[in-house]
Amino acid sequence: MKLLLHVCCAPDLTISYKKLKALGYEPIVYFYNPNIYPEEEYIKRFNEVKKLQMVWNFELIEGEYEPSIYFERIKGHEFNKYNRCLECIKLRLENSLIFANEYRFSQYTSSLLASPRKSHNDILNIVKKIELSNKNIRFQYINFRSNNGIKESSKMCKTYNIYRQDYCGCAFSLSESKKYEEESRRNNYEELKKVVGEDYANAFFNYYKTDLLRIPEDIPYEFLVKEGINSLKYLKPQIVLIRKEIASDFGILKSGRYKIGDWKTKIIVW
Ligand code: SF4
Repeated sequence: MKLLLHVCCAPDLTISYKKLKALGYEPIVYFYNPNIYPEEEYIKRFNEVKKLQMVWNFELIEGEYEPSIYFERIKGHEFNKYNRCLECIKLRLENSLIFANEYRFSQYTSSLLASPRKSHNDILNIVKKIELSNKNIRFQYINFRSNNGIKESSKMCKTYNIYRQDYCGCAFSLSESKKYEEESRRNNYEELKKVVGEDYANAFFNYYKTDLLRIPEDIPYEFLVKEGINSLKYLKPQIVLIRKEIASDFGILKSGRYKIGDWKTKIIVW
Protein backbone atom coordinates (compact mmCIF):
# COMPACT_ATOMS: atom_id res chain seq x y z
CA MET A 1 0.00 0.00 0.00
CA LYS A 2 1.37 3.42 -0.99
CA LEU A 3 2.15 5.92 1.73
CA LEU A 4 3.85 9.30 1.69
CA LEU A 5 6.90 9.28 3.92
CA HIS A 6 8.11 12.73 4.84
CA VAL A 7 11.84 12.43 5.43
CA CYS A 8 14.01 14.78 7.47
CA CYS A 9 17.43 13.17 6.83
CA ALA A 10 19.04 9.97 5.56
CA PRO A 11 19.91 8.46 8.98
CA ASP A 12 16.25 8.70 10.08
CA LEU A 13 15.10 7.49 6.69
CA THR A 14 17.01 4.20 7.05
CA ILE A 15 14.98 2.70 9.85
CA SER A 16 11.69 4.38 8.86
CA TYR A 17 11.90 2.96 5.35
CA LYS A 18 12.92 -0.51 6.49
CA LYS A 19 10.12 -0.72 9.07
CA LEU A 20 7.50 0.50 6.62
CA LYS A 21 8.62 -2.03 4.04
CA ALA A 22 8.49 -4.79 6.66
CA LEU A 23 4.89 -3.77 7.38
CA GLY A 24 4.01 -4.10 3.70
CA TYR A 25 3.99 -0.41 2.71
CA GLU A 26 5.38 1.11 -0.46
CA PRO A 27 6.83 4.41 0.85
CA ILE A 28 7.10 7.35 -1.53
CA VAL A 29 9.81 9.51 -0.02
CA TYR A 30 9.18 13.24 0.30
CA PHE A 31 12.08 15.50 1.30
CA TYR A 32 10.73 18.79 2.60
CA ASN A 33 13.02 20.62 5.03
CA PRO A 34 13.18 24.41 4.62
CA ASN A 35 14.66 24.60 8.14
CA ILE A 36 18.05 23.26 7.06
CA TYR A 37 20.85 25.78 7.13
CA PRO A 38 23.05 26.60 5.26
CA GLU A 39 22.03 25.63 1.74
CA GLU A 40 25.19 23.51 1.25
CA GLU A 41 24.06 21.44 4.24
CA TYR A 42 20.60 21.09 2.68
CA ILE A 43 22.16 19.81 -0.55
CA LYS A 44 24.43 17.46 1.38
CA ARG A 45 21.53 15.96 3.37
CA PHE A 46 19.42 15.59 0.22
CA ASN A 47 22.30 13.87 -1.57
CA GLU A 48 22.57 11.37 1.27
CA VAL A 49 18.90 10.51 0.77
CA LYS A 50 19.63 10.04 -2.94
CA LYS A 51 22.42 7.65 -1.98
CA LEU A 52 19.83 5.43 -0.24
CA GLN A 53 17.51 5.79 -3.22
CA MET A 54 20.26 4.25 -5.38
CA VAL A 55 20.37 1.27 -3.01
CA TRP A 56 16.65 0.75 -2.33
CA ASN A 57 15.20 2.21 -5.51
CA PHE A 58 12.28 4.14 -3.98
CA GLU A 59 10.45 7.04 -5.56
CA LEU A 60 11.86 10.32 -4.26
CA ILE A 61 10.24 13.73 -4.43
CA GLU A 62 11.98 16.93 -3.39
CA GLY A 63 9.77 19.65 -1.90
CA GLU A 64 10.58 23.34 -2.28
CA TYR A 65 13.60 24.60 -0.37
CA GLU A 66 12.09 27.78 1.06
CA PRO A 67 14.09 29.00 4.12
CA SER A 68 12.16 32.30 4.22
CA ILE A 69 8.96 30.37 5.01
CA TYR A 70 10.73 28.61 7.86
CA PHE A 71 12.03 31.90 9.32
CA GLU A 72 8.60 33.47 8.98
CA ARG A 73 7.00 30.51 10.76
CA ILE A 74 9.32 30.50 13.78
CA LYS A 75 9.34 34.30 14.18
CA GLY A 76 9.20 35.25 17.87
CA HIS A 77 10.32 31.73 18.93
CA GLU A 78 13.89 31.86 17.65
CA PHE A 79 15.45 31.49 21.10
CA ASN A 80 12.72 29.43 22.73
CA LYS A 81 13.86 26.04 21.55
CA TYR A 82 10.72 24.14 22.52
CA ASN A 83 8.30 26.44 20.71
CA ARG A 84 10.62 26.90 17.78
CA CYS A 85 10.84 23.15 17.26
CA LEU A 86 7.06 22.73 17.51
CA GLU A 87 6.59 25.31 14.76
CA CYS A 88 9.33 23.75 12.65
CA ILE A 89 7.81 20.26 12.91
CA LYS A 90 4.34 21.64 12.25
CA LEU A 91 5.50 23.42 9.11
CA ARG A 92 7.04 20.24 7.70
CA LEU A 93 4.09 18.01 8.59
CA GLU A 94 1.55 20.52 7.28
CA ASN A 95 3.35 20.78 3.97
CA SER A 96 3.57 16.98 3.74
CA LEU A 97 -0.14 16.64 4.48
CA ILE A 98 -1.05 19.19 1.80
CA PHE A 99 1.20 17.41 -0.68
CA ALA A 100 -0.29 14.03 0.24
CA ASN A 101 -3.78 15.40 -0.19
CA GLU A 102 -2.97 16.95 -3.57
CA TYR A 103 -1.56 13.66 -4.87
CA ARG A 104 -4.35 11.56 -3.35
CA PHE A 105 -2.42 9.56 -0.81
CA SER A 106 -4.60 8.02 1.87
CA GLN A 107 -1.79 7.83 4.44
CA TYR A 108 1.31 9.74 5.38
CA THR A 109 3.94 9.59 8.07
CA SER A 110 7.31 11.12 8.92
CA SER A 111 10.83 9.98 9.66
CA LEU A 112 10.76 12.56 12.46
CA LEU A 113 9.33 9.64 14.47
CA ALA A 114 12.73 7.97 14.15
CA SER A 115 14.67 10.93 15.50
CA PRO A 116 15.95 10.49 19.07
CA ARG A 117 15.62 14.28 19.47
CA LYS A 118 11.84 14.43 18.86
CA SER A 119 8.95 13.72 21.20
CA HIS A 120 6.27 11.42 19.78
CA ASN A 121 3.64 13.15 21.93
CA ASP A 122 4.51 16.51 20.44
CA ILE A 123 4.35 15.09 16.93
CA LEU A 124 0.97 13.44 17.56
CA ASN A 125 -0.45 16.64 19.08
CA ILE A 126 0.65 18.57 16.00
CA VAL A 127 -0.88 15.95 13.72
CA LYS A 128 -4.24 16.38 15.49
CA LYS A 129 -4.10 20.15 15.03
CA ILE A 130 -3.36 20.06 11.31
CA GLU A 131 -6.01 17.51 10.29
CA LEU A 132 -7.71 18.47 7.06
CA SER A 133 -11.47 18.95 7.08
CA ASN A 134 -12.08 16.17 4.52
CA LYS A 135 -10.30 13.62 6.80
CA ASN A 136 -9.44 11.45 3.82
CA ILE A 137 -5.84 11.16 4.89
CA ARG A 138 -4.63 9.37 7.95
CA PHE A 139 -1.35 9.92 9.75
CA GLN A 140 0.25 6.53 10.22
CA TYR A 141 1.89 6.44 13.64
CA ILE A 142 4.72 3.94 13.86
CA ASN A 143 7.35 3.94 16.56
CA PHE A 144 10.40 3.71 14.34
CA ARG A 145 12.64 3.92 17.41
CA SER A 146 11.24 0.74 19.01
CA ASN A 147 13.14 -2.57 19.09
CA ASN A 148 16.56 -0.95 18.91
CA GLY A 149 15.57 1.23 15.95
CA ILE A 150 18.26 3.80 16.71
CA LYS A 151 20.97 1.15 16.92
CA GLU A 152 19.76 -0.42 13.66
CA SER A 153 19.79 2.96 11.98
CA SER A 154 23.34 3.57 13.13
CA LYS A 155 24.41 0.18 11.69
CA MET A 156 22.78 0.96 8.33
CA CYS A 157 24.51 4.35 8.22
CA LYS A 158 27.85 2.57 8.62
CA THR A 159 26.95 -0.03 5.98
CA TYR A 160 25.95 2.57 3.37
CA ASN A 161 28.44 5.21 4.47
CA ILE A 162 25.73 7.74 5.32
CA TYR A 163 26.71 11.12 6.73
CA ARG A 164 25.38 11.58 10.28
CA GLN A 165 24.92 15.25 10.99
CA ASP A 166 25.88 16.62 14.40
CA TYR A 167 23.18 19.27 14.62
CA CYS A 168 19.45 19.11 14.10
CA GLY A 169 19.31 21.32 11.02
CA CYS A 170 18.51 25.01 11.48
CA ALA A 171 20.90 27.92 11.98
CA PHE A 172 19.96 28.07 15.68
CA SER A 173 20.71 24.41 16.28
CA LEU A 174 24.02 24.84 14.47
CA SER A 175 25.14 27.60 16.84
CA GLU A 176 23.71 25.72 19.87
CA SER A 177 25.70 22.67 18.86
CA LYS A 178 28.91 24.72 18.40
CA LYS A 179 28.41 26.32 21.80
CA TYR A 180 27.85 22.92 23.41
CA GLU A 181 30.95 21.56 21.67
CA GLU A 182 33.11 24.46 22.90
CA GLU A 183 31.85 24.05 26.47
CA SER A 184 32.47 20.33 26.36
CA ARG A 185 35.99 20.86 25.02
CA ARG A 186 36.75 23.38 27.76
CA ASN A 187 35.36 21.12 30.51
CA ASN A 188 37.32 18.13 29.27
CA TYR A 189 40.51 20.17 29.22
CA GLU A 190 39.92 21.39 32.79
CA GLU A 191 39.19 17.85 34.02
CA LEU A 192 42.25 16.46 32.29
CA LYS A 193 44.38 19.20 33.84
CA LYS A 194 43.20 18.18 37.31
CA VAL A 195 44.19 14.56 36.64
CA VAL A 196 47.50 14.76 34.78
CA GLY A 197 48.60 18.33 35.50
CA GLU A 198 48.82 21.40 33.29
CA ASP A 199 52.00 20.46 31.40
CA TYR A 200 50.68 17.10 30.23
CA ALA A 201 47.24 18.55 29.51
CA ASN A 202 48.76 21.31 27.37
CA ALA A 203 51.04 18.91 25.58
CA PHE A 204 48.41 16.33 24.65
CA PHE A 205 45.06 18.06 24.49
CA ASN A 206 45.61 18.72 20.78
CA TYR A 207 44.59 15.06 20.34
CA TYR A 208 41.10 15.89 21.60
CA LYS A 209 38.57 13.93 19.49
CA THR A 210 41.25 12.70 17.12
CA ASP A 211 40.31 9.87 14.73
CA LEU A 212 43.34 7.79 15.68
CA LEU A 213 45.37 7.99 18.87
CA ARG A 214 48.59 5.99 18.92
CA ILE A 215 50.14 4.79 22.16
CA PRO A 216 53.00 5.34 22.87
CA GLU A 217 53.75 7.37 19.68
CA ASP A 218 51.24 10.17 20.45
CA ILE A 219 50.61 9.64 24.15
CA PRO A 220 53.47 8.39 26.37
CA TYR A 221 53.09 5.60 28.86
CA GLU A 222 53.66 8.02 31.79
CA PHE A 223 50.52 9.93 30.83
CA LEU A 224 48.43 6.77 31.27
CA VAL A 225 50.15 5.79 34.49
CA LYS A 226 48.84 8.91 36.22
CA GLU A 227 45.17 7.86 36.21
CA GLY A 228 45.26 4.66 34.21
CA ILE A 229 43.70 4.28 30.81
CA ASN A 230 40.71 6.25 32.16
CA SER A 231 42.48 9.54 31.53
CA LEU A 232 41.84 8.96 27.81
CA LYS A 233 38.15 9.66 28.38
CA TYR A 234 38.99 13.38 28.40
CA LEU A 235 40.57 13.11 24.95
CA LYS A 236 37.64 11.18 23.42
CA PRO A 237 39.53 9.40 20.62
CA GLN A 238 37.59 7.44 17.97
CA ILE A 239 40.20 4.67 17.71
CA VAL A 240 43.13 3.88 20.01
CA LEU A 241 46.04 1.95 18.57
CA ILE A 242 48.06 0.58 21.49
CA ARG A 243 51.07 -1.68 21.88
CA LYS A 244 50.12 -4.97 23.52
CA GLU A 245 52.73 -4.72 26.28
CA ILE A 246 51.25 -1.36 27.40
CA ALA A 247 47.64 -2.49 26.92
CA SER A 248 48.17 -5.54 29.13
CA ASP A 249 49.33 -3.27 31.98
CA PHE A 250 45.82 -1.83 31.95
CA GLY A 251 44.03 -5.16 31.65
CA ILE A 252 43.31 -4.85 27.92
CA LEU A 253 44.27 -8.11 26.31
CA LYS A 254 42.53 -7.98 22.95
CA SER A 255 41.13 -5.55 20.40
CA GLY A 256 37.50 -4.52 20.64
CA ARG A 257 35.11 -1.76 21.69
CA TYR A 258 35.71 -0.51 25.21
CA LYS A 259 34.04 1.90 27.55
CA ILE A 260 36.50 4.33 29.10
CA GLY A 261 34.55 6.25 31.70
CA ASP A 262 31.53 7.49 29.76
CA TRP A 263 33.36 7.34 26.42
CA LYS A 264 33.11 4.38 24.02
CA THR A 265 36.06 3.78 21.75
CA LYS A 266 37.58 1.11 19.57
CA ILE A 267 40.90 -0.19 20.89
CA ILE A 268 43.28 -2.00 18.56
CA VAL A 269 45.99 -3.94 20.37
CA TRP A 270 49.07 -4.81 18.33
S1 SF4 B 1 16.32 22.43 16.32
FE1 SF4 B 1 15.58 21.08 14.70
S2 SF4 B 1 13.39 20.86 15.01
FE2 SF4 B 1 14.11 22.61 16.18
S3 SF4 B 1 13.81 24.35 14.85
FE3 SF4 B 1 15.87 23.70 14.53
S4 SF4 B 1 15.78 22.25 12.84
FE4 SF4 B 1 13.71 22.55 13.58
